[in-house]
Amino acid sequence: MTRAEGDPRPSRLGRVRIDLHSHSDRSDGTQPPAALVRRARERGIDVLGLTDHDTTEGWQAAAEQATRSGVTLVRGIEVSCRFAGYGVHLLAYLPDPTYPPLVAELTRILDGRSARLPATIDRLRGLGIDIDAGEVERLAGDAAALGRPHVADVLVAKGVVADRSEAFERYLGPQGPAYVNRYAADLVTMIGTVAAAGGVSVVAHPWARRHNHDALDAAGLARLKQAGLAGVEVDHEDHDEATRTALRGIAAGLDLVVTGSSDHHGAGKIGHELGCNTTDPGQYERLLDLAAKASAASGRATPLPVGP
Ligand code: AMP
Ligand code: ZN
Ligand code: FE
Ligand code: FE
Repeated sequence: MTRAEGDPRPSRLGRVRIDLHSHSDRSDGTQPPAALVRRARERGIDVLGLTDHDTTEGWQAAAEQATRSGVTLVRGIEVSCRFAGYGVHLLAYLPDPTYPPLVAELTRILDGRSARLPATIDRLRGLGIDIDAGEVERLAGDAAALGRPHVADVLVAKGVVADRSEAFERYLGPQGPAYVNRYAADLVTMIGTVAAAGGVSVVAHPWARRHNHDALDAAGLARLKQAGLAGVEVDHEDHDEATRTALRGIAAGLDLVVTGSSDHHGAGKIGHELGCNTTDPGQYERLLDLAAKASAASGRATPLPVGP
């Protein structure tokens, strides 16, 4: 397989570039799934994880494009969870997307996202901002997972803020005046549900700057490992070098797989270009081994990585 000329960051011979966390416009990314896969190809990514928030809606279009583009696609979901009172994002890789308890929980989360929108709009209107839910819905198109980034994009379009980050800082973040909580799945239960669906779980950006993740210390991660957690996302833009080193140490002690990724959102998140962080091929192999075991133990029809 030859690479297109002009790739900004071509793989070196024998080096596989693996980016296990990205978003399409089925949630709060800005590219359709197929465009995201093509972009990964241009960026010299060999293995891409599509992990939209709380939905598998982009899987099929991404898988079809992956086969055409020569990118291996790992189908996943970034599930909105709660642990010890804190919001935690769980990357669920290669589960059977038809497993009823998983479908039921994702539906509940998506319903919570939709229900939050009018409440957020009310808050913003109370702050004197002229915005209505229809504007957000039009901008989000037919995305399965509505999120604060879509509200942020409308605020940008209206000139209220310059970008998504400013919208979160001034209005939508947890301390902001337009913040509204929503339903999230119990983390330990969800790790079990993912395993029962034949998939594997990785905690996303456990110590990200904007989150309060005190509960995800060594003891917390040990408890999650007992519940069936396969790995932790260490190499992420929200983790500085000291954070990565500390997390890597905990992961080694607990024998957790270590992943790295861009958490790319298209134009929606600055500084998260595809491939800005990657997963070591040996760690990826471990994750696939665990997925194969989970799949066999579950008896479910699970998706395999798809591609060239
Ligand atoms: P929601 O899914 O509605 O709870 O919104 C959370 C999502 O917004 C996260 O998953 C990120 O994709 C995005 N996000 C969170 N904080 C920021 C920020 N400061 N700037 C831009 N995007 C953000
Ligand atoms: Zn997002
Ligand atoms: Fe996340
Ligand atoms: Fe993400």
